[in-house]
Amino acid sequence: MTSTQKLNIPSDRVERLHYIKRMFPQATGEDLSNSWAGGRSQALSKLHSIDAPSYARNRNFINGAVTHLSPYLRYGCLSLNETFAAVKAKFGLVGENLLMQLAWRDFWRQVWYANGDAIFSEMEAPKVGIDYAPLNDFVKQGNTGLPCMDAFVDELLTTGYMHNHARMWFASYVVHHLKTDWRDAADWFESKLLDGDFASNHLSWQWVASTFSSKPYYFNKENLGRYTGEKYCTGCTAKCPFDTDYETLKERLFTQAQITGIDISADRIALCRRRLLPALGGGTRFEIAPSTTSQAPASHDAVFAMAVFRHGGLSNGPASATPLLR
Ligand SMILES: Cc1cc2nc3c(=O)[nH]c(=O)nc-3n(C[C@H](O)[C@H](O)[C@H](O)COP(=O)(O)OP(=O)(O)OC[C@H]3O[C@@H](n4cnc5c(N)ncnc54)[C@H](O)[C@@H]3O)c2cc1C
Repeated sequence: MTSTQKLNIPSDRVERLHYIKRMFPQATGEDLSNSWAGGRSQALSKLHSIDAPSYARNRNFINGAVTHLSPYLRYGCLSLNETFAAVKAKFGLVGENLLMQLAWRDFWRQVWYANGDAIFSEMEAPKVGIDYAPLNDFVKQGNTGLPCMDAFVDELLTTGYMHNHARMWFASYVVHHLKTDWRDAADWFESKLLDGDFASNHLSWQWVASTFSSKPYYFNKENLGRYTGEKYCTGCTAKCPFDTDYETLKERLFTQAQITGIDISADRIALCRRRLLPALGGGTRFEIAPSTTSQAPASHDAVFAMAVFRHGGLSNGPASATPLLR
């Protein structure tokens, strides 16, 4: 087909499928099912069949009453405003949960509008150590050996859809367990989705990676099992990387810098432990030095620096850290 050839696309869906097959004989794969028929009337029928009370109860479950509206919103078969207004008018407060999800979509779009192509790079410094390995072929082919992840990829490749919770689990596995470059993974993921949308997709990957959120997103087996009805865990013989508690996962996934603050004053150390430890987390320790000689200057500086960072008192040039620790 040349680029100037006029397309006379039949309005009947079945005829249209035959036509597309004729025009694009090189295209392979399954036809999309009727549930994904495109167009305005199909979009309206999806909008009218929303079950907001069930959505509020079970949207996080893999078989929950989610709307499947995203491709229609993505391609403008429905506007976000009319969807928001329709849900609000029909369900009022009961629709709040769904309205909040629509607001996320709006938020990501506003961030894109305000920042342009910057959303394709890290919006903020990552809050934990992440890495930048290219996305592996075994992931793209759904050959990780983990039944849950492979099923998610299989669904993505065959239907172009993945439930929101599965997207979160998958992205977290790819970024934090496999240490993949989130940008590489996000590009590939977006290209396979029927609802592929730069703003929702790339900013969600950043949210998982912690480059556009205050912490990384990670999950354990109990969480995945609960929201999938144990569908993938029952009978799974794979060595499960998620089968542990959150503390252990955190230590395993995110190597933290170990900083020890040493000071001869027991009072100062007690203050540091009380004030700074909760904010600085497990990689930081404070110890009392038995004498001034064992109070290494660099370690003392660490305590001082933390106090300064916390209070921003550097410009005052205090001679001692003590006032800043209060
Ligand atoms: C890693 C990752 C990548 C994503 N990539 C995309 C993408 O490319 N395109 C896309 O449209 N959505 C994306 N999302 C958001 C969300 O997963 C999908 O919008 C949702 O799963 C679509 O299915 P649904 O219409 O049945 O959702 P429902 O749960 O029924 O939600 C209704 C509508 O609310 C909006 N919505 C719901 N959850 C979110 C969310 N977390 N962020 C933004 N909007 C939301 C969508 O417009 C959705 O159609 C991504 C999420 C993650 C974690």
